[in-house]
Amino acid sequence: MTNHKNILKFTQLWFVSAVIIVLSGSIVSAETPTNPCVQQSTNKDMKNIIDELFVERIKRLVSAKVLPKNFIERVEGVPYFICSDRNFEAAVLPNGVVKFDDSLINAISSQSGALLLGQYLHLDFSDVPITALYEELLTFALMQNLYPNMKTETVGTLISKISNGRGKIKKYITHVKFNERFGTLFLHGLGFMVLHEQCHVALQHNKTAQRDKVNQEYQADLCAIEIVSKHEEVTGGSPGAAFLGAMTMVSTQMVFDQLFTGLLGEKKFLENRLHPSPADRLEKLSIVVKSELMRRKISDPRFYDTIDGMYVLMKNLKERFENLHKYHHFLK
Ligand SMILES: [Zn+2]
Repeated sequence: MTNHKNILKFTQLWFVSAVIIVLSGSIVSAETPTNPCVQQSTNKDMKNIIDELFVERIKRLVSAKVLPKNFIERVEGVPYFICSDRNFEAAVLPNGVVKFDDSLINAISSQSGALLLGQYLHLDFSDVPITALYEELLTFALMQNLYPNMKTETVGTLISKISNGRGKIKKYITHVKFNERFGTLFLHGLGFMVLHEQCHVALQHNKTAQRDKVNQEYQADLCAIEIVSKHEEVTGGSPGAAFLGAMTMVSTQMVFDQLFTGLLGEKKFLENRLHPSPADRLEKLSIVVKSELMRRKISDPRFYDTIDGMYVLMKNLKERFENLHKYHHFLK
C-alpha cells in the first residue's frame, strides 16, 4: 500500500513550494541514452512515491486483472528518471526511457491541495466558491511565469486573498483528515501521470516511425483512464476520483499552453505544440469516465455533476487565461 510518511512530508513540501513555479530553459531538454536529465532530482520522497506507482502498483493492477493484453511485458523493467529541469514534462523518449520532471509533480501536488482546501474554505465561508482557490492558484502560476519579477506568494496568502483575510491555512493543513484526503488525491494525479507514460510504452508509441503525436496523446489518455477507472471499480474507490487526478495533470499543461501562447504568440505556439488542447483532452476523458460510471450502474447524479462542473471550470479558466496574455501583449 501507499507510504503515508512520504506523503505527509510531501504535504509540507507542497506548503512551502506550492506556487513557486518558475520556468527556465527551453521547452525540450537535451537527452542522452541513459540519464535524460540535465539535473536529476535528489528528492528521495518523490523517488519513493514514483517507484511505488511505476513498479509496485503495476503488480497490483496485474492481480486486479485490469491491464490490457501485452501491457506488463512491454512495461516491465523500463528505465525511468525524475529530473529537476523545471520544464513540467513527462515523456517517453525515442530510446524508451521515461522521464518525469519534479516541477510537474509539484504542480500536481499544489493543485490537489488547492482543490481540497477550496472545499474546506467554502464550508467555513459560504460566499467563497469551492473552486476559487484552485482558479487563483492556476492563475497565479501563469502570471508568475509571464512576469517573472512578480512578488512570490504562498498558498496561505492566496487563501487570505480570496477570503478577504478570514481564512487561515493553518486551520486546515493541521487536520489529519485533510492530510489523508490530500495524499489520496495527489496519488490519483501522479498515478494518472505515470500510467499515461506507461501506456505510451505499452502502445509502443516511441517505436512508431510516423508519429501522429496528437492521436497518440489521446490514446495514452484513454488507455490510462480506462485502467484507473476499472481499478477504481475493483478496489471500491470513490467513483470519478480518477478523473480529478487526470485533471490536475492536464490543467498543468493548460497553464503552460497559455504561457507559451503569451510568450511566443498564438501562431508560433500552435506550430510547436506537441499535445492536443487540454480542453479536448478533458472532454474526451470526461466522456470515458462517465460511460464507465454508467457501465458500473452508478446513477448518483453528484458524480456526473462533479465531472461536468470540473470540465466547465477548465473552459472558463481558459478564457480568463486568454485575457491575461492579451494583456501581456499589450504591456510589451
Ligand atoms: Zn503523452
